[in-house]
Amino acid sequence: MCGIIAYVGNKSNAGKILFEGLHTLEYRGYDSSGIALINEKNNIKIYKKKGIVKLAKKKFLKEKISSKIGIGHTRWATHGEPNNKNSHPILSYSKNFAIVHNGIIENYSILKKILEEKGYKFRTDTDTEVLINFIEEINKKSKFDFENSLNTALRQIRGAFAIAIINKKIPNYLYGARRGSPLVVGISENNFFLASDASPIVKHTNDVIYLKDNEIVKISSENLKITNLKKEKINPEVKKIELKIEEIEKGGYDSFMLKEIMEQPKSIKRSMLGRINVNKKNLFINGINDYVKKLLNAKRIIIVGCGTSWHAGLVAEYFFEKYTRIPVEVEYGSEFRYRNPILNSDDVVFFISQSGETADTLESVKITKKKGATALGIVNNVGSSIARITDEGCYLHAGPEIGVASTKAFTSQLIILFMIGVRLSNRLNIIKQKKYVEMIYQLNNIPKLVEEILEQRNKIKNIAKIIYKKNSCLFMGRGTNFPVGLEGALKLKEISYIHAEGYPAAELKHGPIALLEKGTPVIVICTRSDEYEKTIANIEEVKARKAMVIAILDSKNKHVSEMVDYSIVVPQIKNDFSPILNIIPLQLLAYYVAKYKGLDVDKPRNLAKSVTVE
Ligand code: GLU
Repeated sequence: MCGIIAYVGNKSNAGKILFEGLHTLEYRGYDSSGIALINEKNNIKIYKKKGIVKLAKKKFLKEKISSKIGIGHTRWATHGEPNNKNSHPILSYSKNFAIVHNGIIENYSILKKILEEKGYKFRTDTDTEVLINFIEEINKKSKFDFENSLNTALRQIRGAFAIAIINKKIPNYLYGARRGSPLVVGISENNFFLASDASPIVKHTNDVIYLKDNEIVKISSENLKITNLKKEKINPEVKKIELKIEEIEKGGYDSFMLKEIMEQPKSIKRSMLGRINVNKKNLFINGINDYVKKLLNAKRIIIVGCGTSWHAGLVAEYFFEKYTRIPVEVEYGSEFRYRNPILNSDDVVFFISQSGETADTLESVKITKKKGATALGIVNNVGSSIARITDEGCYLHAGPEIGVASTKAFTSQLIILFMIGVRLSNRLNIIKQKKYVEMIYQLNNIPKLVEEILEQRNKIKNIAKIIYKKNSCLFMGRGTNFPVGLEGALKLKEISYIHAEGYPAAELKHGPIALLEKGTPVIVICTRSDEYEKTIANIEEVKARKAMVIAILDSKNKHVSEMVDYSIVVPQIKNDFSPILNIIPLQLLAYYVAKYKGLDVDKPRNLAKSVTVE
């Protein structure tokens, strides 16, 4: 949530560099955007506007000033309406400093009161303005330099932040700091960048430093210095980013979401690369190899995630329990962290997060480690906070996911979880060698089957043409396909704003069936499983209420096809792997419904990628 980009160096087109960066970061927030530059006369110039990056850029292009230092921001508002005045960058009261901020300052109201008593007037409703004025106040009354003032202020701040600050009194220096929210430093000789993630940096350099919590960076075109809040100097570790520019571009598609849906045969294959070896009839869970023993002996597996990642966890709950007989619990990060969870050293906790920065999941990792349980990550974003602080973990290797509605990350999370489940099951001797090898072959074949489903997109588009006029939609499935229903409903509501809910198929009659009217769309995931017949009975119940049934089937079952209004036939796959196929038509359905409604699928209202606030 929220994108920060900052630059200092020897190029005099800082404004252009920052806006290019903001375009790349726009998926992280699009309530407003803006930049602040220090011009040749050492004045701070701000160009910011409510709405998408293009609008603020238009303001800048009218003046196009030259500058070698600046900060930029795309906002996902937490404190104060998304309007022009609350847009970042935000000036301090004296107008000497400008700040961009990602996160929430929890003690802002008490600090605001103190500052108001000292005569500070506030021009915005943000917590960010309180932070910059607090820094200014400390800087004013102490004889310390700016770096020290920043340090003193940040020690008294509660909450999460990644910040970048420019100061017109020391116009050649850029300052950054983080706690909770991510911040990466990019280095290309005498040019330095600060950003919320590596995507806007990769165009300039592959050398990065991932700042750690409570670190402050001070940068000029000649020098970079990192200290922590204890004022100790930190020796930074420069890492290489492996991101390619093509990966963060749309590649001919009209949206990142469609590109990412269509990319899934490849992204799933990448997740399996080096892990599944068909020739050797084996699979290796690279990343968590050292913890396999721990998992085999675990008394309990807990899976923590938010949103789509939580749904992937639910699929794994069914899968792991069936194939490993180890009890599994699935938790929302935001609940887990606040309920003083009971954890023991023989519990293994998986943390699933696309960005690796999800605030609630990240905090849950810290709690887990403190309590002595094993923390394993399943993360897409390489080098992210969760990847760094978990004991070990599996990267998805799905490539950057930019569409706000998660698609390819979900299928990669599933493939990783399936691989873990299958491996453990074989090691526990629950599935024997023959079945193990059969399952490896099936997993390996999934990308091809996904391709077959994607080829049916025109058929799905035609169904979307009917649904887009509806106000409400139900999804239902059983077993591992119940969470697929939840995920299908989430996709639809996220990007098309149609009310949608997912239910275990048998639960409908405990309440939600009251919602059904003639023509209400009910999407039923009805692929072969142990509960197949029961799901068909649930379809009968829904049809009896004259609802409109769209069924995901995995064979041309004449009886069911005739009973339902529309069917989408996906390839058959055994052994509970069907969720990874069944979600594909639901992703496409959500996408086309949103397109028919004329909505921007990559920038759904009120949402943003990478939820770095609690
Ligand atoms: N809390 C700040 C605001 O509402 C920053 C939000 C963000 O992370 O974009 O302006």
